[in-house]
Amino acid sequence: MMEFVTIEGFRTNSKIFHCNNGYFYKLKCSRPNSKSLQCLTTDCTATGLIVDNLLYEKHTHTHDPDMGYLALVNLKKNILRRCAEECTPHRIIYEEETSRTQGLEDRLEYTSFLRIMETARAAAQPKIPNDLMEYAGDLVDPRYSHLFRTANGRAMFKGFVMGAPDAGSAVVFISPSLEKHFQLHMLL
Ligand SMILES: [Zn+2]
Repeated sequence: MMEFVTIEGFRTNSKIFHCNNGYFYKLKCSRPNSKSLQCLTTDCTATGLIVDNLLYEKHTHTHDPDMGYLALVNLKKNILRRCAEECTPHRIIYEEETSRTQGLEDRLEYTSFLRIMETARAAAQPKIPNDLMEYAGDLVDPRYSHLFRTANGRAMFKGFVMGAPDAGSAVVFISPSLEKHFQLHMLL
């Protein structure tokens, strides 16, 4: 039996349990007083049991401990976070993040991870708004601030103008370089 650590996996709501020994488990079944775990390695029959905040490892693993696995999970999490928070092309995010790590590029192929990157980016996009007012709400939502920038990454002025009922309403985008002219014009 050992003390254990729980970390977030790179998938939403996925938890990984380990005892700092290179073996990793996922949750198989959660009961009021215990949790059953299954080794993360495919085809390995090792299981674990958590009782009273201690992890009991059962059966022998059919593989060596993986001391680089935590770094791999972190690499994936960093890539997916950037996919959600930035508009940087997937390939560039992948290259930048893998170049920061050592010896992990063989374990994470761009082509096989691309779909997961695209899914993470798509999940972070706002839903298609039903009307202009809803769209105006997306404009000021901090989660989407990276979507409303100029090509060189500067924040744009964006606003919602509600006119008289017969005049309608509008969403306005103004380039940072034109903003001061706009304000001047509004004053006149
Ligand atoms: Zn195993």
